[in-house]
Amino acid sequence: MSACSLPNWSRAVVKVGSALVAPDDRGCSTTHLLPIARFVADSRRQGKDVILVSSGAVAAGLAEQGRDGPGTGLSIPERQALAALGQPLLMAHWRRLFDVPCAQVLLTYDDLQRRARFVNAKNTIAELLDRGTLPIVNENDTVATEELQVGDNDNLAAYVAVLAEADLLVICSDVDGLYTADPHDDPSAERIAEVDTITDDIYAMVGPSHRAVATGGMQTKVEAAEKATDRGIDTVLVNGTNGDHLDALGRGEMPGTHFRRATQPLPARKHWMLHALPTAGRLVVDAGAADALRHDGASLLPSGIVAVEGTFAQGDAVAVVLQRQRQRVAKGITQYDAPALRRIQGRQSHAIADLLEEAPADYVIHRDDLVVEG
Ligand code: GLU
Repeated sequence: MSACSLPNWSRAVVKVGSALVAPDDRGCSTTHLLPIARFVADSRRQGKDVILVSSGAVAAGLAEQGRDGPGTGLSIPERQALAALGQPLLMAHWRRLFDVPCAQVLLTYDDLQRRARFVNAKNTIAELLDRGTLPIVNENDTVATEELQVGDNDNLAAYVAVLAEADLLVICSDVDGLYTADPHDDPSAERIAEVDTITDDIYAMVGPSHRAVATGGMQTKVEAAEKATDRGIDTVLVNGTNGDHLDALGRGEMPGTHFRRATQPLPARKHWMLHALPTAGRLVVDAGAADALRHDGASLLPSGIVAVEGTFAQGDAVAVVLQRQRQRVAKGITQYDAPALRRIQGRQSHAIADLLEEAPADYVIHRDDLVVEG
């Protein structure tokens, strides 16, 4: 595969942001959607599966209320109401661009995090694809309050790509790809064509979004790429305002930035632990414990823990950080809640039974419930 060719794929999630759906802040427009729809339709004709993740409900709702403009400073109830008004308009808008039935799938963070709901959503999307329809996903904004929401459709699209077992995630944005600096502010910024591994340096390059209706920005696109590539899904970031980019994608070329899929993707359960479960607290560990996790495939024992941060319950996911640099070492599911851990931290495992009434395990995080991060 050459540096500028798209890897072969059979199932893609294509994410289209509000900046493309409603480019002039006056509700849904076809200005940028026709080339995207053509790419989707051509791919389907080649026997490939496509799932759209589309933003634009809030923007469409704003226009329906006769309110032009970017929707700056909307409260959560306002966004929820506007999404309820705009979502049917958004679906009707997309439907006009395709010859096949479009199915609306609205998801919340809860649906992605809880196994039973996750499996339901997965089965529904599989059935919709089997029926030859085009699933169009958005966050269920009307019920997603701050704590419950994914919050941006870039990350939502990555979750959908994992759920639907896609092998490609296409994020259509209004910039040509990932740049070494924000090209709006820095004319010397250069586009990066290939990203092998998403490191802290990549995050350091990206800044917050300029727009108000769109919630993303480059940071959420990199987060989405990390989620997808960790699961073995190639991710590309293209300029959806440039029809040539979409046509190039259709020819198997790679016009924007390609985030390469991990060579050793995380198994489903570990991926879910790392990316879907919220991090409820932090365990600060010494260098010996960090080494044992990183290099020896060990479980985390109480003796290596030097501090416990946050309030969390047994069974919650917690981050394991190194004492010195506060660098993240791992994430895993704890066998003990925060108060119990504060009593046993720094102690040998055989002492647990004397310190606590209940001692479910002589480790704090079992190796199988742990993902080493760096
Ligand atoms: N779900 C929101 C909407 O449809 C958009 C979220 C986003 O742009 O990332 O308006």
